[in-house]
Amino acid sequence: MADDPSSKRHAEGAPEQAPDQAIAFTAHDHRQCQARILARAEAHCASGGLRLTPVRRQTLEILLEAHRAMGAYEVLERLADHGFGSQPPVAYRALDFLVEAGCAHRVRRVNGYTACMHPGERHDPVLLICEGCGMVAESPSGGARRAVGQAAVPLEFQLEGVNIEGVGMCPACLADDGEGIGDGKGAPRSKDAGGGR
Ligand SMILES: [Zn+2]
Ligand SMILES: [Zn+2]
Ligand SMILES: [Zn+2]
Repeated sequence: MADDPSSKRHAEGAPEQAPDQAIAFTAHDHRQCQARILARAEAHCASGGLRLTPVRRQTLEILLEAHRAMGAYEVLERLADHGFGSQPPVAYRALDFLVEAGCAHRVRRVNGYTACMHPGERHDPVLLICEGCGMVAESPSGGARRAVGQAAVPLEFQLEGVNIEGVGMCPACLADDGEGIGDGKGAPRSKDAGGGR
């Protein structure tokens, strides 16, 4: 019951509240976001002696193009466009490397991959997948990881990782939903302002 010593923040004069948390769902300059995360991933690989070869780097850049999940075959096509060959192992090996290196996550729900927003930091993310637009946001798991850990204890199961995925609607898709669909069918829950008829 000691205090959790693992709650260390990453130093480097980080901005108070990392806005990365669910940056995918907020309006932001994605070019900057992309560059920042790529730089972090590069630094992480360099410091860990992990070789970010051209094909691996290109794969990460492809994943970083948007906050969504991409299937291996889509990545493969894009790699081929960049002249990296078109045999599936090319993509799978690069993707496996990125996952192992902590630069990408599998998104099992959609059988795809997404770039990690916190490369090199030890974390168990909650991946939130929008069914409207396909956006994927990464949020710290907070208590969810602990809950899974506790569930594993009585089974004497040695937990090595937790991947938690949630599906639903992102704020933008929710807003769209609210506006456009005024077809009069599903009675909107507004007070009937004395309609005549
Ligand atoms: Zn972004
Ligand atoms: Zn991550
Ligand atoms: Zn959405």
